[in-house]
Amino acid sequence: MAHTALICWTSLLTLLPAPALRAQAPVDTALARYIAGIKAIDSHAHPMLPIPAGAPPDTDYDALPLDGIPAFPLPYRLRPENPEWRAAQHALYGVRLTDTGAAYRDALRGAVRAVRQREGPRFPEWVLDQIGTEVMLANRITLGPGLAPPRFRWVAFVDALMFPLDTRAEAARTPDTRALYPKEAALLRRYVHELGLTTVPRTLDAYVRAVVTPTLERERRGGAVSVKFEAAYLRPLDFDDPDAAAAQRVYARYAAGGTPTHAEYKVLEDYLFRMIARGAGRLGMAVQIHTTEGFGGFYATHGSAPHLLEPAFDDPTLRGTTFIIIHGGWPLLGETQSLLSKPNVYTDISAMALFVEPTEVARVLRQWLGEWPEKVMFGTDAFDGGPEQGWAEAAWLGTTSARRALAIALTGMMRDGEIDRARAEQLARMVMRENAITAYHLERR
Ligand SMILES: [Zn+2]
Repeated sequence: MAHTALICWTSLLTLLPAPALRAQAPVDTALARYIAGIKAIDSHAHPMLPIPAGAPPDTDYDALPLDGIPAFPLPYRLRPENPEWRAAQHALYGVRLTDTGAAYRDALRGAVRAVRQREGPRFPEWVLDQIGTEVMLANRITLGPGLAPPRFRWVAFVDALMFPLDTRAEAARTPDTRALYPKEAALLRRYVHELGLTTVPRTLDAYVRAVVTPTLERERRGGAVSVKFEAAYLRPLDFDDPDAAAAQRVYARYAAGGTPTHAEYKVLEDYLFRMIARGAGRLGMAVQIHTTEGFGGFYATHGSAPHLLEPAFDDPTLRGTTFIIIHGGWPLLGETQSLLSKPNVYTDISAMALFVEPTEVARVLRQWLGEWPEKVMFGTDAFDGGPEQGWAEAAWLGTTSARRALAIALTGMMRDGEIDRARAEQLARMVMRENAITAYHLERR
């Protein structure tokens, strides 16, 4: 029987035309066209400054650039051998898919240089025009020429404000944290200097008054619509609600020198996390929090589980702050979904859209949209991955993948009679742009 079945199957395969061999998720063509036409708002990305050749490099693209940590493996879809990167280079720069080896690399370098020269400071906006994105939220230390409103909106980093004391003992935990903590220390020094101070004050209340609050206000004045915590790269997301007096004691003891114990530092960080989140909310900024499985060879996945944030989300004094579980908490999607029941908690599919196949993202979207359709946002996490995987290619891949995932999810919901076409189009607009307008208090245009 088995033998016969095998013969039947193989002969059937040879009879099928080649394209049919690739299983395609069913997509409603008209709906896919509708989704492709929606002007998107990308909830989370890392665009680079359009620096002219020979000028100093862009160093403000991330508070925690990962090039300083030991090499670590990437999910398949992010690796250069994934042919989808070639598709991105072809779509954006017209690089031929048939070139290989040195000819391909030369063609790519030349094509990218030509477009960058032609567009000059308009290059980042040109990228958004190619992928149908109206607004990209730029997660950077600063924006700059070429990355400006209204097409780019700022998401500023705030982790550094949680670490005003000596972090050497915290940094010692892993080879990754050894490289990352000093970056936060340097960024805090920069924040302090930008306020005209030379050092942090001696008491916690004075630190909050003279450094934390003015830094958040400076970020808001600079156009920030959200702040972002990358804390999961540094410590678990279990932010408790410590007694203010305990935090004040730790601060006062070490402000002038010395290294707090891990338990002491956690009290202070937890206190400051809530102060920062509360302050951001008061100023009308959302709070993005990195939650996913990576990156880094020593990254603590259990410490980035979305459920760890529940006590902060349930803090009544933080209900005026909108939180975004960025990267969807992948792969802990159920944890993310359960937290979307909080009135001030949203999520986005940034990063997921890049390193998870669209069919899988479609399953997630369908699961979330059935329950919390007003809480789910499109995002890419487009970042610069070197000459063959620039932020533009990542934005193209993340955006086309996300639109495809959304089309698969909504087609399935229509075919199963859960929604009609009008509702499918409405859900598509909500995910691709309208939920972000609400979450980040953007102007409606
Ligand atoms: Zn990111």
